[in-house]
Amino acid sequence: MAVLLTGGAGYIGSHTALCIANAGLDVVVLDNLSNSSPEAIRRVSELTGKEIPLIIGDCTNKDDLEKAFSAYPIDQVVHFAGLKAVGESVAKPLMYYRNNLDASLTLLEVMAAHGCNQLVFSSSATVYGTIQEMPLKENFPLGCTNPYGWTKLMSEQIFRDVGKADLGLSIVLLRYFNPVGAHESGRIGEDPNGIPNNLMPFICQVAKGRLERLSIFGNDYPTKDGTGVRDYIHVMDLAEGHLAALKYAREHRGVEVFNLGTGVGYSVLDMVHAFEEVNHIQVPYRIAPRRPGDIATCYADPTKAHDLLHWQTHRTLTDMCRDAWNWQNNNPMGYRNA
Ligand code: NAD
Ligand code: UDP
Repeated sequence: MAVLLTGGAGYIGSHTALCIANAGLDVVVLDNLSNSSPEAIRRVSELTGKEIPLIIGDCTNKDDLEKAFSAYPIDQVVHFAGLKAVGESVAKPLMYYRNNLDASLTLLEVMAAHGCNQLVFSSSATVYGTIQEMPLKENFPLGCTNPYGWTKLMSEQIFRDVGKADLGLSIVLLRYFNPVGAHESGRIGEDPNGIPNNLMPFICQVAKGRLERLSIFGNDYPTKDGTGVRDYIHVMDLAEGHLAALKYAREHRGVEVFNLGTGVGYSVLDMVHAFEEVNHIQVPYRIAPRRPGDIATCYADPTKAHDLLHWQTHRTLTDMCRDAWNWQNNNPMGYRNA
């Protein structure tokens, strides 16, 4: 049997492909490469010593999904495929709703047609909206502040409804916090298109000299040093969370939701200082105005994932900073020069 990773050539998908292939599962990737490179999967094959098939196809296209399901004995799916840039989703909401919702719906239809009933879905901490009570627990009220977030929350709702209607389904919704870092080999990592939106890739590109300085968005939040606090999680810990979710889906029916975070919050200044100290490199920065839509603090209560998935994070902030830099330093232009 095989696990299909939609969007598996992307940042989190490629690390998960590596992790679950190393655990002995057969992996198939389907990706339209709209935000990724086939080189990522080539390198995962190289690192694992296993041929990982890459189907270049679109998850909103039934025929493309059919190709995957008819060619391989797929009994589980991890659904990463989606557009993920918050700012772009505000500018192009239709594109986000069309891509992200259509991908979830089409996938469910093709899975049903092939009797595949186990799914793990990439949701996000963004579905907690602007709640201020921390740490965030899975049963807190939900709401979003941008179209990207709504596509995640609406997909969650679709999966919950479909799971209620068909009691044979196993669906695991994973709410990721802030994934950072890279595989320790430095061969795969995060390769954003254009100027990064997220903090860690921005820090890496400043350190490498691709960008002049970091803008820290606000130092007047009600946090210990005034800068925003987030729950950064090493992408390999996150990848291992998917392996645990796949095992859970094999053993349980129904729909379940889990936070995947460390439960610890670090500020932007904590991140900059840790990165400088671990990698012995300067990260010039300036304080800039707050970024619209940002909240002061966000971190997970990961207890439910500890208890039911038997999963927990092992990697430290030092590991996150070292591995992110190792990838950036070895691949200054990401996969582009490969
Ligand atoms: P990514 O952009 O690196 O990976 C997503 C992949 O999906 C890309 O390879 C892209 O080419 C592919 N894709 C997009 N639309 C597709 C479609 N219609 N058909 C086929 N492939 C398609 O992003 P990532 O950081 O690896 O995120 C993976 C998932 O996790 C996404 O759904 C994202 O929304 C979610 N997520 C990411 C974060 C984060 O901070 N990185 C946080 C929470 C949730
Ligand atoms: N941030 C920043 N400068 C940047 C990018 C991000 O100061 O160039 C801050 C941002 O305001 C937030 C934290 O870093 O407090 C994490 O932001 P990111 O975009 O990585 O994740 P998210 O906003 O989704 O939590």
